[in-house]
Amino acid sequence: MRIKCPYCGERPNEEFTCLGDASLKRPTSNEPDTMDEWFDYVYIRDNLKGRMHEHWHHSGGCRSWLVVDRDTETHEIFGVTTARDYNAKGKV
Ligand SMILES: [Zn+2]
Repeated sequence: MRIKCPYCGERPNEEFTCLGDASLKRPTSNEPDTMDEWFDYVYIRDNLKGRMHEHWHHSGGCRSWLVVDRDTETHEIFGVTTARDYNAKGKV
């Protein structure tokens, strides 16, 4: 699988680290009664089969955080953007 980094161009996936679902929203409060929300945010992940948005870190390259629109079954990649742009626009 090859990922097209917006800064480095198309690179082998071995240069990247996948960090999972990019659609999760960080809890906004640190109050003790939100610990269940934090537990789910930090530890609970669905193992989706199909198209999803994932965080990838170009750890062996420019060290940018990216969001990859990818099918986890076929590994087809539909788009790549920076995490900054994804958070501003909400899409890849
Ligand atoms: Zn890069």
